[in-house]
Amino acid sequence: MTSAAAVDHLEKVTVRMELDKNARILVTGAGGFIGGHMVRRLVDSGHTNVRGVDIKPLDEWYQHVAGVEEQVGDLRDTAVATAAVADTTYVINLAADMGGMGFIENNKALCMLSSLISTNVLNEARKVGVKRFFYSSSACVYAAQYQTNPDVTALKESDAYPADPEDGYGWEKLFSERMCRHFNEDFGMEISVARYHNVYGPMGSWTGGREKAPAAVCRKIAEAVLLGRTDMEIWGDGEQTRSFTYIDDCLEGTLLLLTGDYYEPLNVGSSELVSINELVSIVEEIAGITVTRHYNLDAPKGVRGRNSDNTEIKRVFGWEPSTALRDGMAVTYQWVYDQVAAAIAAGEY
Ligand code: NAD
Repeated sequence: MTSAAAVDHLEKVTVRMELDKNARILVTGAGGFIGGHMVRRLVDSGHTNVRGVDIKPLDEWYQHVAGVEEQVGDLRDTAVATAAVADTTYVINLAADMGGMGFIENNKALCMLSSLISTNVLNEARKVGVKRFFYSSSACVYAAQYQTNPDVTALKESDAYPADPEDGYGWEKLFSERMCRHFNEDFGMEISVARYHNVYGPMGSWTGGREKAPAAVCRKIAEAVLLGRTDMEIWGDGEQTRSFTYIDDCLEGTLLLLTGDYYEPLNVGSSELVSINELVSIVEEIAGITVTRHYNLDAPKGVRGRNSDNTEIKRVFGWEPSTALRDGMAVTYQWVYDQVAAAIAAGEY
């Protein structure tokens, strides 16, 4: 067992194991965006024993994959976590009460309650002795002092300390990361932690208040195309910067971490930095339309700049996300466009 503290930082850590194709894999948050894609990826790659758990009723899950055991329940409840983890060999914990800036800035208490999910799932996994555990943390753990400039220096893993993360959501993620660290150190659990940076793609939240910037921009541009609503509100002055990670890269990074023997948190994020204005321009170009931009300076806008430094994941795994934003956004826009068109046809607009 390699403890987190004992990992040799000078050597590339590439010892990876094969996931046993017949062993049970639990994916929590399976009704959500990343969880839905993860379940599909696992089944497509030959895993025959996948269990998905989510608090949402089944008809609200983004994806259903044939052969997957689906459980509906609230993982803040220990008994639900016990049933979810029973007989599992690998756990991919993606469940959290989350959303874009609009949601996390206005629901800090709900975000903090996800610590109950993290605690229950991790502790129940310890009791059954799972082989590998994955926890989905976030770039929101990074300290505010490193994110004050749009021309940001990319965030390296050590920039999470001294701690000053995003209030609410980021504190919960940092707390859960540390719990994973100590379960590794004290109980010998093999736990990988990814800090995802703005994951986007089809089959996720695109309306209703939990959507993130890429899906929100796609929806507003689709509304311009389909309904002639060419006035577009942008939160902040549009000069705030981010990097956006395509879902396929997120899945790839997650599976790398899950099967590797490296137990410190690692960035899983694109390093292609853009401003929100540039993101809008990309989608305008994909859709072949120009909108009139209106800047709402009072809206939630998050930190001024954020990018992913991928030095560490390249050193450890020889890998980093590679999907160009333009390519990922083209797929995402088409999917969101279809959702908007369907909603209009159903009289929901
Ligand atoms: P999502 O909201 O689409 O999926 C999360 C799922 O967890 C939802 O389906 C939700 O119903 C479920 N859930 C919430 N509370 C639950 C509970 N009490 N019991 C059981 N299920 C519950 O979000 P996502 O984008 O798929 O994110 C997956 C994970 O990755 C989350 O932990 C999130 O914090 C993390 N993350 C995501 C991003 C991103 O950009 N999408 C960035 C950083 C971190």
